[in-house]
Amino acid sequence: MSRILLVYTGGTIGMIKNPETGALTAFNFDELLSNIPELKLLEHDISTVSFEEPVDSSDMDTSDYVKLVHLIEDHFEDYDGFVVLHGSDTMSYTASVISFMFENLKKPVIFTGSQLPIGDLRTDAKENLITSIQLAGLKENGKTVIKEVGLYFEYKLYRANRTTKVNAEHFEAFESSNFPAIAESGVNLKVNYEKLMKPNLRKKMIVHKSLNDNIFVLKLFPGINYKTLEHIFNTPHVEGIILETFGSGNAKTDPWFLKLLKQAIDRGVHVVNVTQCVGGAVLMGKYATSERLKKLGVISGGDMTTEAAVGKMMYLLTKKLGPKVFKTIFETSLRGEMN
Ligand code: ASP
Repeated sequence: MSRILLVYTGGTIGMIKNPETGALTAFNFDELLSNIPELKLLEHDISTVSFEEPVDSSDMDTSDYVKLVHLIEDHFEDYDGFVVLHGSDTMSYTASVISFMFENLKKPVIFTGSQLPIGDLRTDAKENLITSIQLAGLKENGKTVIKEVGLYFEYKLYRANRTTKVNAEHFEAFESSNFPAIAESGVNLKVNYEKLMKPNLRKKMIVHKSLNDNIFVLKLFPGINYKTLEHIFNTPHVEGIILETFGSGNAKTDPWFLKLLKQAIDRGVHVVNVTQCVGGAVLMGKYATSERLKKLGVISGGDMTTEAAVGKMMYLLTKKLGPKVFKTIFETSLRGEMN
């Protein structure tokens, strides 16, 4: 038997539809067990805690991430695993940044949500919730199996910082193109043991509770012009830019574009290159269109998702590192976010 803490932050999963008006209202999580009797069949001891004001995930910001981390940290010793109920829209962003905020995590923190409210007849919320609790409580020979931040949706548990929301309608809403699922739920729960994070159990957990949001993501498109980019690159407070480039990390080679990039890098802005493609990696130097970026000192995001790059940037910027060290650390896998 494991002790599980369910943390409700907001989102569809915690809503219930009024059968007469059709309006969605927040579900009372104190009554969770009476509303979902199936949970009683689980052999786990489940407690719940909610954000005072549930947040639609589109409204989440760094203060919510810090609040969530505090909540988990405050209860960390009392539970074997954590299930975070979160809106699906930005779940990959939150789960990614949380993975960086917990260093040497040795317990599961499983994010889940749903496309349909928990009170809906055809809801996907129950399966997502029940299996997430099972995974968070999973032990073998008395030992916790999952020791990382995961995201469970529609029969698959992924490493959270590898995921992206790819569908606004299907129950199968998430993908992890560059890393396989770490567990799958069918008739049995199948764990992909080889792919699980294996933290050093002797190292103490460190919880990083500050983030820096002076960043932006810039998705390049053919035809993007100087006037726009000149403003963006010269935004005074910006300390980090995530450049979503084409294919394996390619961008335009116009001198004005390279000059703007150089000026930003010379000012100390950290620029990371991630691909717009859903799968594959940035390989700077493969084509002439990325060779120049490499020479300017642009950081390679490798096969990282934009969501993971955003979280890593928010986390690493607080460490006040010089450009070389920042680049080396950014290009190193810290929580299994890149190959
Ligand atoms: N808008 C909701 C949210 O992300 C959608 C969902 O829960 O899936 O908070």
